Amino acid sequence: MFKIHTLSGYDEVGKNMTAVEFGDDIFVFDCGLYLPAVIDLQESTKQPTPALLRGVGALPNDDFLFKQKEKVRAFLITHAHLDHVGAIPYIVQRYPNAEIFATPFTIEVLKTLARDSNTNIKNKINIVQPDSSCIIKGKNRSYTADFVNITHSTLQSALIALHTPEGVVIYANDYKLDNNPVIGAPPNYKKLKELAEEGVRVLIVDALYSGDERKTLSEKIARAMVEEVLLTVDHKDHAIVVSTFSSHIARLKSIVDFSLKLGRKPVLIGRSLAKYNEAAKSAGISPFGKEVQILNFPNQVKSHLKQIDKNRKDYVLICTGHQAEPGSILDRMVSGKLPFTLKPHDSVIFSSKVIPTPINQSNRANMDKKLKLQDVRIFDNVHVSGHGGREDLRDMINLLKPEHVIPSHGGLDKTIPAIDLAKKMGYKFEKTAHLCQDQRFVMIK
Ligand SMILES: [Zn+2]
Repeated sequence: MFKIHTLSGYDEVGKNMTAVEFGDDIFVFDCGLYLPAVIDLQESTKQPTPALLRGVGALPNDDFLFKQKEKVRAFLITHAHLDHVGAIPYIVQRYPNAEIFATPFTIEVLKTLARDSNTNIKNKINIVQPDSSCIIKGKNRSYTADFVNITHSTLQSALIALHTPEGVVIYANDYKLDNNPVIGAPPNYKKLKELAEEGVRVLIVDALYSGDERKTLSEKIARAMVEEVLLTVDHKDHAIVVSTFSSHIARLKSIVDFSLKLGRKPVLIGRSLAKYNEAAKSAGISPFGKEVQILNFPNQVKSHLKQIDKNRKDYVLICTGHQAEPGSILDRMVSGKLPFTLKPHDSVIFSSKVIPTPINQSNRANMDKKLKLQDVRIFDNVHVSGHGGREDLRDMINLLKPEHVIPSHGGLDKTIPAIDLAKKMGYKFEKTAHLCQDQRFVMIK
């Protein structure tokens, strides 16, 4: 008998954290931030403290874990997105017995997060290569966890399979089943089949788009969309500005590749883009060399933009600000706060989708208004999601054949459609298909 604790990320999209309690040992999957709360806080204060972050609901509620902190053995992190790894620097010190396990890119990103928050992480950090395993010491026994290569929208994402004496627990947040990713390998179907043969007791699974009747398209399609907008549209001698997710290195690669094909120099601008690119370099998996210029620091950005402004047709500017975040490069460019302003017929390409929170929606609406006033061409939604749809979920359940399914990564609006699908596939509500909210647990007998 063991328990799965759905601690956080089951009432909203963000601050993911799930724990497996097996006797005297607890293992934590992911430890993320709730980003809208962080953004609100950053607008009012420069250096958020753990107490401030906790106060605004940006951190997962770990009271349950803290009460038995000596039992917590490991934080197993699936990937480098902030809603999965971002809370580690603020939380992990509370668990001195726990070690951190993640793939190289995720660890490099974690190091930058720790530096940014002035945190010295004392817990042991273990690098787990994609498609390999690690051993975690429990009180009386050791456990194995496999970091199985899975496709998503950042590098080295893993589906984690924890082997316990009572069977395998699989944590699959976040994923899509992409057979043609632009960087990295397709999902390791062979390993997934092996796990299914071994017998999967529980699957905790990304249900974000389980209500969307689709299979999420491959990143190869997003690459074709980027190619279409950059190469088949006549941009003449006007400026081209592209914005996308800073951690989406595969998308950045497509933007860089087609910028070069267009005969323009790609320039990455903004702290967050520089940070993720640096992490990819440190992990030895950056696809970029000298052909890409990276502007990080404010003075560097300003002086180079002045030069770029004189030869606008020679560059593609790739910058932060796809959610129109105040203070981002694109926001400052649009508001005339940088020595490079947009002119009529320039192109702004959003290789992204507006994350549907009220603050993002209103920020983007304001930005679009300004862009239209300046008669700038807007290419929106040049993007394919990193999260699977309903048919990916069906395929994942069919592949792994788990005994129990626990949908995660969102509130009831996201998880109920996944429960409905599981029921159609033969699972029994509350017996083998578990609808969870934050701070609940499921007993697996
Ligand atoms: Zn993610």
